[in-house]
Amino acid sequence: MYPDPLVQLFTVFAGLFGAVVGSFLNVCIYRLPRGYVSIVFPGSHCTQCGTMLKWYDNIPIFSWLSLGGACRYCKTIIHSRYLWIEILTACLFIFYVRNIALVPLPFFEALPMAKQIFALAVAIYLVCLMVVITFIDIDYRIIPDCITYPGIILAPFLSALCPVYHPQIQSLSDPYLSGLLSSLLGVFVGGGSLYGVGVIGKAIFGKDAMGLGDVKMMALVGGFLGWDSALIIFLLACILGTFIGIFSLILTKDHYIPFGPYLAAGTLVTLLFKEDILHLSFHVWPQIVSKWLGIFGYNYGY
Ligand SMILES: [Zn+2]
Repeated sequence: MYPDPLVQLFTVFAGLFGAVVGSFLNVCIYRLPRGYVSIVFPGSHCTQCGTMLKWYDNIPIFSWLSLGGACRYCKTIIHSRYLWIEILTACLFIFYVRNIALVPLPFFEALPMAKQIFALAVAIYLVCLMVVITFIDIDYRIIPDCITYPGIILAPFLSALCPVYHPQIQSLSDPYLSGLLSSLLGVFVGGGSLYGVGVIGKAIFGKDAMGLGDVKMMALVGGFLGWDSALIIFLLACILGTFIGIFSLILTKDHYIPFGPYLAAGTLVTLLFKEDILHLSFHVWPQIVSKWLGIFGYNYGY
């Protein structure tokens, strides 16, 4: 759609912007669970010696590499995770900017320009939240309310304005009302499905299987992406969590599995590939089921 040099140029910009945002996400991951009053004040400082960092100590990716992963002033080692989160965010920005706007996937290519930009904005917002949630959940085993609540409130309004990620509710002719209802439904299906599993888990195992943070996170994601996406994300997270959880149990003997990172991974996949996943399951499986039902003389109508 765009000329090739322009695509390459925008890709580079997306990566640079992603690295800068990743640097900010590092600050969020550090400060939000530690109860800082503000994310912006006081300015960036070394957490060991307290020296305020100069602008050239704060250049994403580059500063860490040029300083060899240590504070310029007190030489304390700065964990390489700061670097990896900046690189990860840059890669995610490139991936979503390309697949939604620059070299769009069929679903996004079919959208008018304004909706495409909106879809990209929501995707970038969710990418940032998912990165922050993942690392805070790994570190502290919590998902802070100050991340989830604003999103849960914001989602229905934005979905009413532009219901790009939501399935059209067939009985409603107004797409905006449909977007609003689908978002509210997504909040309840997303949060409710996890809450339900938590209640069942507690009844069977006698201890909390699911944190309330996970429930709120899924309410947020369901609100933005719709009830159908919420179910797909939950399913993907369970599959992923089971596989990686077994490995982690063998390697670390740690029985606790934070669920947030798996939900985050499921969200980032479903965001782009919902149509493909739906065609894999809901569209193929009913056909198979209806064939079988056909054998028994019942026509399911697919
Ligand atoms: Zn220092």
